[in-house]
Amino acid sequence: MSRQTKIVATLGPATTDEASLRGIVDAGVDMVRMNLSHGDHDEHRDREQTLRRTARAAGRVVGMLCDLQGPKIRVERFAGGSVELDEGAAFFLDPTLDGDAGSSEGVGVAYAGLPTDVAPGDILLLADGLIRLEVERIEGTRIHTRVTVGGTLGDRKGINRLGGGLSVRALTDKDRVDIKLAAELEADYMAVSFPRDGADIDEARALLREAGGHGGIVAKIERHEAVEALDEIMEAADAVMIARGDLAVEIGDAELPGVQKRIMRMARERDCVVITATQMMQSMVDSPMPTRAEVLDVANAVLDGTDAVMLSEETAMGQYPAETVGAMSRVCIGAETYADETRPSGGLKPGVHFDRIDEAIAKTAITTANSLGAKAIAALTESGATAMWMSRIGTDIPIYALSEQPRTRRKVTLYRGVNPIRFDPTQREHDAVNREAVAELKGLGAVSDDDLVVITKGDLAGEQGGTNAMKVVKVSEIVR
Ligand code: PGA
Ligand code: MN
Repeated sequence: MSRQTKIVATLGPATTDEASLRGIVDAGVDMVRMNLSHGDHDEHRDREQTLRRTARAAGRVVGMLCDLQGPKIRVERFAGGSVELDEGAAFFLDPTLDGDAGSSEGVGVAYAGLPTDVAPGDILLLADGLIRLEVERIEGTRIHTRVTVGGTLGDRKGINRLGGGLSVRALTDKDRVDIKLAAELEADYMAVSFPRDGADIDEARALLREAGGHGGIVAKIERHEAVEALDEIMEAADAVMIARGDLAVEIGDAELPGVQKRIMRMARERDCVVITATQMMQSMVDSPMPTRAEVLDVANAVLDGTDAVMLSEETAMGQYPAETVGAMSRVCIGAETYADETRPSGGLKPGVHFDRIDEAIAKTAITTANSLGAKAIAALTESGATAMWMSRIGTDIPIYALSEQPRTRRKVTLYRGVNPIRFDPTQREHDAVNREAVAELKGLGAVSDDDLVVITKGDLAGEQGGTNAMKVVKVSEIVR
């Protein structure tokens, strides 16, 4: 049985060589994430080459997402590499302190604005929430705090403020350089870390286009402010990522499940694509089996309507990258068979309004296919937009995005239920296009003689936004 939910895997030391990359591709990865927080540009260039080679050899379409580091606020370094912080001890943070001079008294910070962003009573969470500091007073550039939960604090660990509200801008100088790399590598998507609002997304998109990049923009929801600005962020972005690692630290882990479900529901209602990320199968970093809780976590995201589930450390530095992808794939397929019982949007809403003709054709094609019990939906698409709209409407029927554009075939690897197929309508006689599209599906074993196929296309093949027709055909009547 084929899987609808897509799997995004982060690349890292565990998936750098061709054999291990091939392992996760064969196990079913649909898109890889290059984490630009780590590694230099040449490393990413090599990785991109290896990825393209591997995907070609495996005969698979694999998309690529470049994830910008963003303004993650970090402590600087300690003279001894780390310190033990005891509950009740005093500890200061100071952006003017020498970067290597950290001690058990205090440490430097890589963000000069921090002293003016925080106030007495604020809770600062360090190292993904492991350590808690309460701000007592600020003297000049020095933030004096009290340790309320202690632990080991190492070099360059992250800092978040409980409740969010740090004013640092989303795109750093490093991000501006990395955006050019995303363009150069022809990333299908570029993820913006810690955006606050729609304007941060617009700026990232403008910079990517300026650099010649064509990728879609993924907004990582990982700040308190972003949760408040979901409407405008979803309007501005092509996709959102529920970045649960940082998000949980900012809003508190008890808020996370409810917020995850709200993001998913809003994304579906607003035609935004959604990726669920971080610690989905964390224990598989060093175990060949997921825990029951992880199985439930992945399955719940599938049942709630996520487009994709993402692996981070599991594939970047885990011991079992291919096994993790295999387990995730198996759990997704299992959950999808129960999706009918929980699917949030099983069809079009009463009173629905469409702004565009292609959108109307795409969405009503799904209703038609569902009610006729069609075996496949073939979207002849130039930009992939019809396939995206189709995948917003709940269906178990596979959607095939037929496109001559390699970029389009890679872009749709993120859309739930959509399978890319290479097909060039402009090279065929007008009358032959339907027949050859269906023959293509039949050749792949996707349909047989008695099946119905719903086809959407434009009168002018090869033009973006041109879809204006839907046709329903019986396989045996047009392919002989
Ligand atoms: P990261 O983003 O892995 O880049 O931190 C995801 C998250 O915060 O969950
Ligand atoms: Mn993050």
